[in-house]
Amino acid sequence: MTHPVPPALREFGAATGAGATALLDTPIHEVEALLDPSTNAFFFDVDGTLIDIAPHPDAVEVPASLIRDLTALSEVANGAIALVSGRAADVLDRLFAPMSLALSGIHGAQMRRVPGAALEQPGAPLDPAVRADLSGVGDAHSGVLVEDKGASVALHYRNDPALGPRLEEEIARIVARDPRGLTVLPGRMVFEVKRRGYDKGAAVRAFMDAPPFAGRIPVFLGDDVTDEAGFAAVREMHGIAISVGRRLPGADVTLPHAQDVRALVKRLARSAERRV
Ligand SMILES: [Mg+2]
Repeated sequence: MTHPVPPALREFGAATGAGATALLDTPIHEVEALLDPSTNAFFFDVDGTLIDIAPHPDAVEVPASLIRDLTALSEVANGAIALVSGRAADVLDRLFAPMSLALSGIHGAQMRRVPGAALEQPGAPLDPAVRADLSGVGDAHSGVLVEDKGASVALHYRNDPALGPRLEEEIARIVARDPRGLTVLPGRMVFEVKRRGYDKGAAVRAFMDAPPFAGRIPVFLGDDVTDEAGFAAVREMHGIAISVGRRLPGADVTLPHAQDVRALVKRLARSAERRV
């Protein structure tokens, strides 16, 4: 399915050269002007995009105001908003309770197309031997936190950044046993191993095939390398890719911080309420 390029983005791109290189730190009101909750579908990465990164994955906080604003945005966007995260669905539900949203967990391995629907699992669990070996690598280093999600294993090394190259090498040796089946996602102070064949882009395409997303212009907001697959998917559909915190390849515009994304969500929800 293709969409017309939104006129605002076309003008914006012509004026700034956006698309080839995302503008760093685009003012929120300029990003807001590109978007319309009545015609856009919104896909949000979570960590580093909607919420601030914490020293430990369990230490993150979802502000109550964000839950309120996302709920309001979902209403004005007719439900066309989804979380697209590396976290597992049950963790996302716990973080954002009592709100329930459409979501994709573990980089596309899990999908819930509309709130309350059954969880689809397009990504099969990793081989138990691979999971055990990856856990073993993590456990051998005191600065590494192992997060075994079944469909993926993430090794976080935020507590000892110098470990990065060594960890990467040890993980590569395990992945090399099945290079056609397994892949490593490098993120911010994390390496995550998962099966090939699904990613955040595949999740976006699947959402866009069905209501309430189908027929809308997709917008993807993300802060990390794994979000580039989401950027590519929305750009195929003439959508808008918003990079957070740094200029990622494939982004149209960049917002400096997760707090700017939260401010944008609030403004979009309110501007649409005013229009109704
Ligand atoms: Mg992120």
